[in-house]
Order: sequence, then structure tokens, then C-alpha cells
Amino acid sequence: MSTSNGTSLNGVHHAHDVVRDAPAPATTSVDHVRRAVALARSAQEHWRYESLETRLACLQRAAKEMLRRRAEVIDLARREMGKVAVEGLLNEALGPLDAVGAWGRVVRRATARRRVRLNPVSFPGKTAYVDSVPRGVVGVIAPWNFPVAGLYRPILPALLTGNAVVLKPSEFTPRTSAWFIERLADDLPEGLVHVVQGDGAVGAELVAAGIDACVFTGSPRAGRTVARLCAERGIPASVEMGGKDAAVVLVDCDLERTVAGVTHWALSNVGQACGAIEIAYVEREIADVFVDRMRRAWARLTTESVGPLANRRQLDVVAAQVDDARAKGARVVCGGVRPNEGLFYPPTLLDRCDSTMSIVQDETFGPVLAIARIDGASEAVRQINEARYGLGASIWTSDVARARRLAERLDVGVVNVNNHSFTGAIPSLPWSGTRETGFGVANGPEALATFVRPRVTAIDASSSPDFYWMPYDDTLRDLGEAVADAQIGRLGGAWKVPLLMRRRVQALRRFFRG
Ligand code: NAD
Repeated sequence: MSTSNGTSLNGVHHAHDVVRDAPAPATTSVDHVRRAVALARSAQEHWRYESLETRLACLQRAAKEMLRRRAEVIDLARREMGKVAVEGLLNEALGPLDAVGAWGRVVRRATARRRVRLNPVSFPGKTAYVDSVPRGVVGVIAPWNFPVAGLYRPILPALLTGNAVVLKPSEFTPRTSAWFIERLADDLPEGLVHVVQGDGAVGAELVAAGIDACVFTGSPRAGRTVARLCAERGIPASVEMGGKDAAVVLVDCDLERTVAGVTHWALSNVGQACGAIEIAYVEREIADVFVDRMRRAWARLTTESVGPLANRRQLDVVAAQVDDARAKGARVVCGGVRPNEGLFYPPTLLDRCDSTMSIVQDETFGPVLAIARIDGASEAVRQINEARYGLGASIWTSDVARARRLAERLDVGVVNVNNHSFTGAIPSLPWSGTRETGFGVANGPEALATFVRPRVTAIDASSSPDFYWMPYDDTLRDLGEAVADAQIGRLGGAWKVPLLMRRRVQALRRFFRG
């Protein structure tokens, strides 16, 4: 299979893969990027006043159509990034309707009008409430690893809270991601959602094109640039920049289930997931048997079930990190051989890894698991807390009480006990991290701060002037002194306050009456 510029897209060459894809979409010009934002803004002027129920109904219609047409997205993801068909079905095609429903519940609860009780003595006759107001046009800059499902998290809540969206998908998966926007556009008001195409330069143009908020997901380098550009424009940015998740395998774990779970979370999506397990810290007592069980399991995995890497850039990163680890003394238990052609890199287990190696320090995003032998869980906790990234970690043990205590010491965004990363697709649970993973929060009510701002409305039904209003005189000073005395319990302060308050308000009324 090849693209219009002739580069090989994946390495699993079945007969049905040998098709020539349509030319990649042309790069969107700066003028068109600006125009997309302007059109989105005018569509949002109406959308912002639609009820949540109306917005939900539109998105549910679109999601059902996506499900009906699921074969298209499975095929696009396979063609553009070599995604294994069953992963295309489970990860990209199956989720939109559930995601819309779950986001609807999160948004309804988190953005409902909040009434705030005010002290009737200090604020007589007054009430206040807080509304969540959409920001306007949300720019979304996305990576390629989940070209449709990765868009639910920023785009569904943005739309449900009343915003318009302009998406800049990855240049590696332009058509798969555009398919999602096209399906949405079919059931949404004209102009509310747009896609602009191109590389990082177009992403930077989108940030500068007048958007009101930005959600970026991708590498630390690009994420820092986007965060800076947003700061310069004074708009909020949610920036998520990858991970290097660890599994802590303790001596009392259920070995069979742990081997199965670590295998899945290391190799699902060919390891090209921010929440993939990339390193296992294994207690020394069970390291030999764990490595052996892993080796036997991985040797039985077929090429078809794991799939090829998504692009050559990724293959280069993976191969370089494995070579570096091997040169620094890691033992290659299985895999570790770069293919002569194509993008299939074999599932690779590296034993006896240490922190001098790139495979331990840097994000890999490939079918490789580094194993480091540890003397006790505290060593793993220390390594995880000192790592560059701080997205997720898991603890595999039969002692759940102990796991909970360890979880409290882990400086990451998501801790799993006896599983990994499965919460990443649950809209009610925040997905976030620390350190180089960035400060963005995807999912959960916490994520909505990027899409809405609070607006306070305070209503005064009082018929008298407020005591602190001008003009200032002794009646106000005496009242202030009595309030201070009352607060520190000084004798007489408390009973004086209501009397002095009345005197003060009468003084104001006399002043303004005449
Ligand atoms: P990338 O940073 O190369 O690209 C991400 C997006 O940013 C693309 O659309 C790209 O065109 C755009 N971009 C690049 N430079 C830019 C710039 N200067 N200004 C504006 N936009 C720019 O990342 P990638 O290789 O596409 O994706 C892989 C990365 O994404 C990994 O690091 C992975 O961990 C991360 N990721 C993180 C999460 C998470 O939830 N934390 C989820 C998925 C992927």
C-alpha cells in the first residue's frame, strides 16, 4: 500500500492491502484556517443557546450513523495507520454513542446552574448563581494513534457545552479523523465543526486564527509550543503530552492474569498509546518466572494480531531505543529485530533494563516492554516518581490494601490496581498526569474548564442602600469597629452590630432622600 507520495504505510502485505489510496488531503491555507474559525464562530452564536437536550439529540443521531457506517472507519484506520481490524472495531468504531451519552451525564451535572447562598446579614436581599458559559470556538490539535476515538474526549464535551470546533488532525491520519468530523457535520448546524489539514505549521496557524480555547494532545515538544502560543494569546490550553507508564509486578500477584494484562496493555495498538505499559518493575523473587511466562506468551502472538507500526518515524524511534538498550547491556528476550521492509516490528521483551537506557527514560510508543528487576515496591515507587512522565502506573498484587497504600505514594494521574489504562475511555474519570505529561485534563468534570468559563449573576432585591456605599462617615466607621470586635469575641461587639447597621442605613437614607 502506498500514499500519493509513494511512502509505504504499513508492513502487513495482504492482497487486499495492495490498493492505491486517494491522494492525501491538501494542506489548508492560512486564509482557509481563519475562515473556518470565523464560520465556526457565527454558527456557535446560535448553538450556544440550544438546550443540552437538543445538542445531545444531534450528537446521538451522528453517533448512530457512525455505528451504521463502522466498516468505513475500520478500513480508513487500517489503510492510514495499519490498525488491526478488530482494534479498529473495538477502539475506533464501537464507542461514539456510549461516549455521547456518558458525556451528556457529565456535562448536565457539572454545568447545571449553581446557586450560592449569601449571608443575609452581610448581603441583605441578595441572591447569586453561577452559569457555565461556552468559550466559543475550540481548536483541537490531535495525534494519530486513536484517530477517531481520541477525538471523543475533546470534541464531544466541547460541542455539548455549546462550543464550535475546528480540528487539526495528525498529518498521518487526515482522512480517518476527517471522517469523524464529516459524520458530525451531517447532523449538526452548518458551520459548527470544521477540519483543517496539514502538519504542525497548520496547528500553529489554528492557534493564531482567533480560537477561544485549545486542546492539544501529542508530543512534549509540540505541546510546549502550543501552550506558549496559547499563553501569548491569553486563551486556555489543555495540553497532554504522552507517557511512559510502568507496571509494578509484586511477588504475590496472580501471575497468569498479570502476564495477560501486562501483555495486553503493552501491545494493544502496537504499544502506540500514551497509556501503554512500557516498563515493568518486577520483584526480583519472581522476575525469572515472570520473564519466562511473558516470553512464552509473546512467542505465540501472530503478526496479524499485533499489527505494524503506524509510520516510519515511529519505527525509527522504536528501533533506535532497542538498539541503545542492547548496547547498554539489556538482554533481548524476544524480538528486537528491525524488519528489512515494511513497518512490522516484532513484540520485544528487554530484560535487565536500567535508567541509563533511552528505553527506560523516553517514550517508546511501540511493541516493546522493558523489564527492570527491583528489590521491593519502594524502589519502583521511587523510579516512577523520578521519571520524566507522570501519566499512569499499575500495581499487580493480591494484597489490595497494600496496593492502595502504594497508590497514595505515586505521583501520576491514574493508578490502576491489577489492570491498566482501561479508564482512559470513561468520560466521568479524569485522565491526566504530571511532569512532562503536562497539565491537561481529559475526561471528567475537571476537563470542562477548557470548554466553559464561569459567569456569576447576582440579583439584589433590597430596597435600602448597602451599608458600605458612599458617603463614608462615623456611622460606617463605628459599624466596622463593632464587626471587627464581634469577630474576635470582644465584649459588646456582637450585640452592637445590628444596632449600628440600622443606624448606618438610616443615615444613608437620610442623605439620599433630600
Ligand atoms: P506530535 O506532537 O508530533 O503531533 C501531535 C499534533 O500536533 C499533530 O496534529 C501535529 O501536526 C501537531 N503539531 C506538531 N507540531 C506543532 C506545533 N509546533 N504547533 C501546533 N501543532 C503542532 O505527536 P504525535 O506523534 O502525532 O502523537 C504521539 C504523541 O501523542 C505521543 O507522545 C503520545 O504519548 C501523545 N499522546 C498523548 C495522549 C494523552 O492522553 N496524554 C493521548 C494520545 C497521544
